[in-house]
Amino acid sequence: MNIKRSKLKTNYISIMNIISQKSLLEHNTFNINVKANKYVNIKTETDLIKLLNQKQFKKIKKTIIGGGSNILLTKDIKGLVIHNQIQGIKILKSNIKSVIIEVGAGVIWDNLVSWSTKLQLYGIENLSLIPGSVGASPIQNIGAYGVELKDVFKELRAINLKTNKLRVFKKSECEFGYRNSIFKNELKEKYVISKIIIQLSKKQIVNTTYYGLENKLKKFTKKELTSELIRSKIIEIRNAKLPDPKIIGNAGSFFKNPTINKELLTNLQHDHPEIPFFENKIGIKVPAGWLIEKLKWRGHQEKNCGVSKKHALVIVNYGKATGKEILKLSNKIKKNVYKEFKINLEEEVSIL
Ligand SMILES: Cc1cc2nc3c(=O)[nH]c(=O)nc-3n(C[C@H](O)[C@H](O)[C@H](O)COP(=O)(O)OP(=O)(O)OC[C@H]3O[C@@H](n4cnc5c(N)ncnc54)[C@H](O)[C@@H]3O)c2cc1C
Repeated sequence: MNIKRSKLKTNYISIMNIISQKSLLEHNTFNINVKANKYVNIKTETDLIKLLNQKQFKKIKKTIIGGGSNILLTKDIKGLVIHNQIQGIKILKSNIKSVIIEVGAGVIWDNLVSWSTKLQLYGIENLSLIPGSVGASPIQNIGAYGVELKDVFKELRAINLKTNKLRVFKKSECEFGYRNSIFKNELKEKYVISKIIIQLSKKQIVNTTYYGLENKLKKFTKKELTSELIRSKIIEIRNAKLPDPKIIGNAGSFFKNPTINKELLTNLQHDHPEIPFFENKIGIKVPAGWLIEKLKWRGHQEKNCGVSKKHALVIVNYGKATGKEILKLSNKIKKNVYKEFKINLEEEVSIL
């Protein structure tokens, strides 16, 4: 009996294929070459729970990665890196108005968007071409062109990394905000998300609050505005604006757009009457890209890294930069923005 058990355990570890000293170069869009002490690729929720229950992994630090498009790796990662590749798109409910679907955390986000627009579903087409995995989408409540994940989100399934117990989080429990959720704050690094559940509309809902998109869609009739057409226009806009990580290493917007108060805005308007701003419930949002552009960082290069020529909010790796070099450059930008505008920029990217 004992022999059988230990055989099973050994087999199990080999099925899991745990790799030691694994380079993470191909697992982050900044193209940083650091190593994971131990690395494992997980394909099902059951495997994930079994892995976490293994004695040898109980006490070691676990780091979760998806597509690596929102992380800056500044050093080798100790402990175990879990690459979440849980697949599957499953329709849970469908009626004339909408469909509720459950999606595995390892599904590539843009494959989900493409799947939904091919079925003429509405809700996530404005989030086309955002790199990365479905499992990471709630972490910062991904958003673009007037839409955020929270607009379609219902609940998620996640495993507690300490107790290894599965928990369902309803939308209200995720505390979604602008590029924010409970998983970036109180529950940071405490859960691994295994599945998300979202609701998409079968009825046409078009969000053109982003003026660039409205411009592109003006010439089409209402009937022509399918989610697939909107997706194609979003892809055009994004390709023109953002550097492609397959060509040049980057993690999209490095900083969040800061929120400031009325008094600071009035002071800034004194020297910069043209400063763009948007009022929301929390305060006044100023585009971080505008602040950085104003200080002439766009196109700036420092040895192996720099600020994209296309977009001031995107820091790029010209090939051989280390995470520490990129972090140093980002801190210089932060300091400069604070000195000139008295605004503290906050990183959108997770620094690991
Ligand atoms: C060119 C480019 C454009 C981008 N544009 C946008 C945009 O328009 N809007 C936007 O919101 N973002 C954008 N991003 C950022 C990024 O694509 C998103 O944040 C995406 O959700 C990250 O997914 P990922 O799988 O790559 O996450 P990773 O980079 O692998 O991880 C990001 C964080 O989430 C955690 N994490 C990942 N998976 C899980 C999981 N299953 N459970 C628990 N924690 C997990 C990681 O530990 C890490 O802290 C862009 C990035 C790039 C490179």
